[in-house]
Amino acid sequence: MDRLDKVISSQTEYSRGDVKKLLKLGVITVNGEVVNKPNIYVDVNNDIIYVDDMKIDYKKYVYLVLNKPKGYISATTDGNYPVVVELVPYEYQNRNIFPCGRLDKDTTGLMILSDDGDFSHNLLSPKKHVSKKYLVEVDKDLDNSMIDDFREGIKLKDFECKSSLLEIIDNRHCYVTLTEGKYHQIKRMFKSYGIEVINLKRISMGRLELPKDLEEGECRELTKKEYDSLFK
Ligand code: URA
Repeated sequence: MDRLDKVISSQTEYSRGDVKKLLKLGVITVNGEVVNKPNIYVDVNNDIIYVDDMKIDYKKYVYLVLNKPKGYISATTDGNYPVVVELVPYEYQNRNIFPCGRLDKDTTGLMILSDDGDFSHNLLSPKKHVSKKYLVEVDKDLDNSMIDDFREGIKLKDFECKSSLLEIIDNRHCYVTLTEGKYHQIKRMFKSYGIEVINLKRISMGRLELPKDLEEGECRELTKKEYDSLFK
């Protein structure tokens, strides 16, 4: 059983103080009865809670997909730049949403955010083999010989990359699929050839592709099907 005011504020944009006011107004019902006290206990799986005409659809955790724009830091706070959690819709603001993994400030595309730490751990753990595919634009011509190098594992100064897939689209564009995510990994892999990455966009994770309807800066909940496709 959980406290009513806590349940409502965790599932909505309302603070505990807001909930108190709403209780006084008599607009909160539990199983059809108007309730006035914040400290009553409810069963989140069985009790039916309404705030006005909005039914509280209890979710322990949420899983969000964001099309990350350039200029945002993959963090919950930063002193200098905007952070990706600022793009999370208002109704999730009372949850401790954080980005599951990082994209560089100038990288765009598919990013997952959640308040579920175990889920995030699984998504990022190399043991789970969730692949991450990127569309890459570079400043010099690509060479077919790089495909084998990527497959064998590029050796950087401080670590050896795992085998990755390089698919060349044209002289300056390619896809790279990784199963790990070291700091600036793709940029450093190309840098080892003297090639700079000009644009980097993550386009899929596991079998989840960046949804076509999601504009840059937009963020919404994953559907059940999308969630499942992450780990396939
Ligand atoms: N590799 C990079 O260099 N940057 C990213 O944001 C992701 C992968």
